Amino acid sequence: MLRLDTDVQFVKGVGPRRVSLLTSRGVRTVGDLLLRIPRTYQDRSTFASLDSLRAGQDAAVRAKIYRARSIQTRTRGRILEVILTDGTSFAYAKWFHGGSTSLSRSLAAGREIILFGRVDRDNYESKLVFFNPEFELLDEADPSQETPSVNSLDVGRIVPIYEEIGGMTSRQLRRIIAAALADLADPLDDPIPSRVRNDHGFPDLRACLQGIHFPSAGDNIHDLNRRESPAHRRLIFEEFFLLELVFALRKKQSQLTTGVRFETSDRVRSAVKKILPFHPTTAQKRVLREIVEDLKAPHPMNRLLQGDVGSGKTIVAFEAVVVAIENGYQAAIMAPTEILAEQHYLNAKRVLAPLGYSIGVLRRGIKKAEKKKLFEALAEGSIQLIIGTHVLLEESTVFWKLGLVVIDEQHRFGVVQRLRLMSKGDQPNTLVMTATPIPRTLAMTLYGDLDLSVIDEMPPGRSPIKTIHETERNADRVHTRLSEEMGKGRQCYVVYPVIEESEKVDLKSATEGFERLSRVFSNRTVALLHGRLKSDEKEAIMRAFAAGKLDALVATTVIEVGVDVANATVMMIEHAERFGLAQLHQLRGRVGRGSAASLCVLMTPDRIGETARERIDAMVSTTNGFRLAEVDLRLRGPGEMAGTRQSGLPEFRIANLMEDSLLLALAQNEAKKFVESEEQALRLLKELSSRSSSITPAGLVTVG
Ligand code: ADP
Ligand code: MG
Repeated sequence: MLRLDTDVQFVKGVGPRRVSLLTSRGVRTVGDLLLRIPRTYQDRSTFASLDSLRAGQDAAVRAKIYRARSIQTRTRGRILEVILTDGTSFAYAKWFHGGSTSLSRSLAAGREIILFGRVDRDNYESKLVFFNPEFELLDEADPSQETPSVNSLDVGRIVPIYEEIGGMTSRQLRRIIAAALADLADPLDDPIPSRVRNDHGFPDLRACLQGIHFPSAGDNIHDLNRRESPAHRRLIFEEFFLLELVFALRKKQSQLTTGVRFETSDRVRSAVKKILPFHPTTAQKRVLREIVEDLKAPHPMNRLLQGDVGSGKTIVAFEAVVVAIENGYQAAIMAPTEILAEQHYLNAKRVLAPLGYSIGVLRRGIKKAEKKKLFEALAEGSIQLIIGTHVLLEESTVFWKLGLVVIDEQHRFGVVQRLRLMSKGDQPNTLVMTATPIPRTLAMTLYGDLDLSVIDEMPPGRSPIKTIHETERNADRVHTRLSEEMGKGRQCYVVYPVIEESEKVDLKSATEGFERLSRVFSNRTVALLHGRLKSDEKEAIMRAFAAGKLDALVATTVIEVGVDVANATVMMIEHAERFGLAQLHQLRGRVGRGSAASLCVLMTPDRIGETARERIDAMVSTTNGFRLAEVDLRLRGPGEMAGTRQSGLPEFRIANLMEDSLLLALAQNEAKKFVESEEQALRLLKELSSRSSSITPAGLVTVG
């Protein structure tokens, strides 16, 4: 009897050679094998006779090869042309790329074949023909076992078609999968509780595996091919369920722990009011209310604050900081870059000035003695708010009483870093912020253990940003535009890409760009900012720019996040084709921060690739970050989305985040119900993850 965790070598028909082949492709157990689900299904329950074929129909036929020949054509290269017969009539099949010798060798006269595809009419000869049909040779002897050449696995049913694994054909895989199923223990322990199965019409595990590989006669072929059969739905659900169970458990555990609990007395509230430099938007008010509810609750806050670039997240974070400090705790803000940390620091000093807090900033280049003093102050509690980069994570950073952790631009950090900063306090409240809008499904899988707040409204008085695409040819025209803006007292950014591996090359192009613009705008003050400058040099440049002392700033992407200068109205991005959508969107968000109209110029060479063009087009057509995120998801897939790699996006075997969002939502609901009994949830989690360890998000679970 096989179980899902049985070694694949115990499956009949899997000899030593196949074992090594399969294991090298990650198929180690029977479960791995059975979870390689068919790429598609063909209905071969009945074969059409050749004399009944009609153009336009999808048909399966079973026939003998009457003649096969390779033809050289003028326009389409070599074609393999085969004439088929089944005794009723003849039909043609043609394969382009037929120059491949293996194809012409296998499709030789006399062989018996099953062919599946669309029937067409050949324009020239008005004959019926299959173009590039799928086929299977029926008389192919299976070297590893004594199976009859054709049997009920291949014909007379809905037949699964598999992706080849290292030269093992679909037909060979069909055989060993059938053998595995035949020897599989029955019933299998099913980790999905029967109540859930019954509620949603999911088959039990044994039936599910059978049904996914060898559907029954009455099963709907279209559902199968769309991955919407009950068996498919169950497997997809299962993958999501495991993940959501992990998240739900973490949430539950954090709700059970007692963390710091803040009061919001009148005194605290009036302190919060004192810092507000403007009227908060409705969205900011709502989000603050959500945060305050968390802060007042006995369990620690774990909240994700999403809001597009410029939507005003910072002030919300500062308000939370005030609540923490007024309650006698310390707060920490971690930002991904030095510049951003610096900017938060300057902002904090300005905004929080009326309250007289002591605020520290931890810079990378900081002198030893100064750093030591800072650490001491932090440890004894005389610093109330500390701002810094990853440096905050260092072991030597010790807090006296850390009550609130704020992480800005969460997508730049991973889960592990978040947890490490949190561990510096005793169950502190945590607010993570991101301006990288991510589609809901992705948010649910990446940050499923966090509660979500969204700022979906921009502060008033912003005028929209116009975005244009220009090529190098029109550089002069673009420079004239920049010149006009600077003439009106506005400031410009000119950004060059930096790709880590070739940082030197890119720095060179930024430097050259800087020299060129200094010549073009000889009556203006232009500065160059890049990652290799010392931090005090960078800071000096940023200060000068913020104070309006510079007209244009040529920069590598160090200015990507957070920089906030309302008087800057032009963002020109050189080599825009080399940036990802999220990055472009972030960069564009540096302008349009004041009431004056702003312009974003995307410069590219004349010729750019298709995906790059789609990105540019998307940027030109919308400024909505969520819409751009959807485009990004479509263009790149979830694994490549901004920051998902650091954040540990789980890999699914069957589920697809883009297509299966309804099942994801379902899994989330069910998981929530399950953690009501923690013991039951833990048991379930253990069973599920013993099978699908690949989808357990990194750093999230420790199962006994
Ligand atoms: P982000 O969400 O990208 O971090 P910021 O917090 O930096 O955005 O805010 C962008 C700019 O908008 C800042 O200059 C900030 O002072 C300003 N701002 C934020 N909220 C409001 C508001 N309610 N009314 C007017 N200006 C606001
Ligand atoms: Mg920000």
